[in-house]
Amino acid sequence: MSFKRDQWVTCQDDLLADLTFGKSYVVVDAREDSIQVLNDTYEHVWYYNSRFTNVTTPSGESVPAAQDFQVIENEQVYCFDVDDTLVYRDDLELTAVDDGERLAVRDPYSGVTVFLRPHKRHVNLLAQMHGRGRFIIVWSQSGVLWAKAVVEALALEAYVHMVVTKPHGIVDDLPPQVWLSNRIYIEEGK
Ligand SMILES: [Mg+2]
Repeated sequence: MSFKRDQWVTCQDDLLADLTFGKSYVVVDAREDSIQVLNDTYEHVWYYNSRFTNVTTPSGESVPAAQDFQVIENEQVYCFDVDDTLVYRDDLELTAVDDGERLAVRDPYSGVTVFLRPHKRHVNLLAQMHGRGRFIIVWSQSGVLWAKAVVEALALEAYVHMVVTKPHGIVDDLPPQVWLSNRIYIEEGK
């Protein structure tokens, strides 16, 4: 059987070095009688075709739905944090103090309503960046539903393009500080 680049194949040989019997691999390169795959030690190695069968999808995994694929064409992407960036988290947040400033935000995870002071300068900055055509993401380590709740409490839905949880990690040859050096944080007088 001959294989093509980018298709998935299943290993049918339990004696091959650095491959697992029954596991699927993507074909990185193909010749008439052999294929190159990224093996279990993450090395590109050539193996004979006869060691594999054809699969359409990797075993145990499904092909993601097309609607999960999203392309943002805007080249100016800005990410805003939530806690202590768009709203202050402090020890008064559990008290319903009406100081004319605090917003009630219900934490969708705990059901507890907290009363938070907006960081006005960052909220204004977000609206200003939106107005200048930037793509605005709001993200939080406290979860996507928390980020959404704060965006709604601040009435910023019209200025925010996307709400996500804060990324858990990146796969990149460069550390983030090399390409993500533009951190903004404005101190407000209290
Ligand atoms: Mg924070």
